[in-house]
Amino acid sequence: MKFDYDVIIIGSGPAGFSCAMQSSKFNKKVLIVEANADHLGGAWINSGTVPSKSLREAAKSIYNFHSQFADENGRKPYEKFRMEDLLQYKKSILENKNQKVKNDLIKNEVETYRGWGKIIGKNEVEVTNQLNESNIFTAKKILIATGSSPEEPKNFEIDHSNILNYESILNVTHIPRRLIIIGAGIISFEYATIFAALGTRVTILTDSNDVLPFLDHEIKDELLTLLKKKNIQLYTGVGVEYVGVNKLRTCTEVGFKAQSGDTRLQVIETEHVLYVGGKKPNLKNLGLDSVGIELDEDGYLNVDDGFRTNVDNIYGAGDVIGFPSLASASFVQGQLAASNMFGGTTENYTNSIPYGIYSIPEISGIGLTEQDAKKQNIDVTVGRAYYKNITQADIGHLEDGLLKLVFRTDNLKLLGVHIIGDTAPDLIHLGQSVMAYDGDIRYFFQHVLNYPSFSEAYRIAAFNGVNRVHKAGVKYKKILKNDN
Ligand SMILES: Cc1cc2nc3c(=O)[nH]c(=O)nc-3n(C[C@H](O)[C@H](O)[C@H](O)COP(=O)(O)OP(=O)(O)OC[C@H]3O[C@@H](n4cnc5c(N)ncnc54)[C@H](O)[C@@H]3O)c2cc1C
Repeated sequence: MKFDYDVIIIGSGPAGFSCAMQSSKFNKKVLIVEANADHLGGAWINSGTVPSKSLREAAKSIYNFHSQFADENGRKPYEKFRMEDLLQYKKSILENKNQKVKNDLIKNEVETYRGWGKIIGKNEVEVTNQLNESNIFTAKKILIATGSSPEEPKNFEIDHSNILNYESILNVTHIPRRLIIIGAGIISFEYATIFAALGTRVTILTDSNDVLPFLDHEIKDELLTLLKKKNIQLYTGVGVEYVGVNKLRTCTEVGFKAQSGDTRLQVIETEHVLYVGGKKPNLKNLGLDSVGIELDEDGYLNVDDGFRTNVDNIYGAGDVIGFPSLASASFVQGQLAASNMFGGTTENYTNSIPYGIYSIPEISGIGLTEQDAKKQNIDVTVGRAYYKNITQADIGHLEDGLLKLVFRTDNLKLLGVHIIGDTAPDLIHLGQSVMAYDGDIRYFFQHVLNYPSFSEAYRIAAFNGVNRVHKAGVKYKKILKNDN
C-alpha cells in the first residue's frame, strides 16, 4: 500500500522534533502535525524549558550584578528592574528559537501541518484545523509525541491572574513582593530561587514531609541551608485549606494547616500564588482506542525499549511515556524511535540519566547517591569539593556549592556524582562520561583539567576521596602509581 508519508509525528516538542530530524536523515518523508496554531516546539520552547531558563538567566544576571555591586541605597532588585525587561529578554529568545526550529525543519524538508491530530486507523491520522476543517493523512509509521499538561489543584482554581500555574507565571507583569508556591517539585525550587533573586519573599508549602527525595542527603542539606540564606521559607507536611482573593485587603490569602502536631489554621497573605502540581500526559481525544493502544497503570503510553507501543507501527516518545519527562530525555527518545523505525537498530539508551535542577545555584546529579549505595550494601567512600575551595568560584564570588563523588572503596570506580553550585548541569557530564566508560576517580587527577574552571572541583574531590580510602602515606603513594 502507498502512504502519503513514511512517518507522521503528532506533536512538535523535543521528542517530535528529534524524531523528524532523524527520520529526514534516513531520507524519509515526514509530516509533523502540531495543534498549536502559533508556535512549534511544545513545552520545550513555549511554556517549559526554554522560557523558564530564559527568565532564570535574566534573574541570575540581575542577582549577580546586584549582589556584587550592591546598591548604596539598599534598594531591592525589584525596585531597580522591571518584569517587563525580563519578559522582553525571554521573548527575544523564544522568537529566535522558534525561528531556528522552523528553519531546521524546512532545511530538512520536514512538512508541518497545523491542527489537532487524531489516530483513526493503524496508518491514518485525521487532522482538524482551527476552522474545523479535517484532512486525513496516511503513513507507514506514527509517533505520538503530544507531551503533557499541568495538573489542576483539587481545592482551588487557577485564575491565571493572582493564582498561577507554571504556564501563566511566565507572563506575570510585575515582580511580586510576595509569592507563595504550592508544591515542592523541581519547578518549585527553580521559580522560588528565580523570584528570591529578584527580591521577592518566597514561601513554599508542601504536603510531603520531605522534598526532592532523590537528592543525595548532603546536597539536600546544602540546598536547605541556601534556602534559609535566601530567606525562602519552606513548610513541609502542611495541607492547603483554601486559596482565595481578599478584596478588602487587595491580596491573595492562603490558609494551611500542619498535618500533625499543632494543626491550627495559619494564613499567609501574598500577591501571587504559583501552583506546581504534577503533569498529566496529553493522551485524550487522540483516538488511541480506535487502534487499541494500551496505557500503563499510571496512564502513560506503554512502550518497549524501542519506543514502540503494542501496535507495531505506532511509537511514543517524550512526556507521554512518563519518567523522566524531561526535554533532555525526549530528544534522545525521539531520535531513537526514528532509528528503530527506519534504521533497523536495536539501540537503546542508558537508564543512567542525569537530572538538572535550574535553581540559583543549580543542582545536578547522576548515578548512586551515598544513601542509595548504602541501601544496596555497596562499600562506598565519598570525595567532596566545596566551591569555596575552587578558584573559579572565588573569581565569580560564587562560593556556595559542593561537588560530591561516590565511588567504590575497593577499586575507586565512580558510581555517582552529585553537585549543587554554579554550572552543575554542565559539570555533571564529565562525571557522566567517566561513569559511562566504567572509569575510576583517578581520572580526575591523572588528566590535566583547565584552570581556573569549575571542573577543578573534580580534581579536589577525587584527591579528597582517595585520601579517605588510603589516608596519607605509603598506601596513598601506591594508589597514585597504580594504574590497575
Ligand atoms: C516549567 C518547566 C520547566 C522545564 N524545564 C526543563 C529543563 O530545564 N530541562 C528539561 O530537560 N526539561 C524541562 N522541562 C520538561 C520539558 O519541557 C518536557 O519534558 C518536554 O517539553 C517534553 O517534550 P515532548 O516532546 O514530550 O512534549 P512537548 O514539548 O509538551 O510538546 C508536545 C506538543 O504536542 C502538541 N500536541 C498535543 N496534542 C496534540 C494533538 N492531538 N495534535 C497535534 N499536536 C498536539 C502540543 O501542542 C505540543 O506542541 C520543563 C517543563 C516545565 C513545564
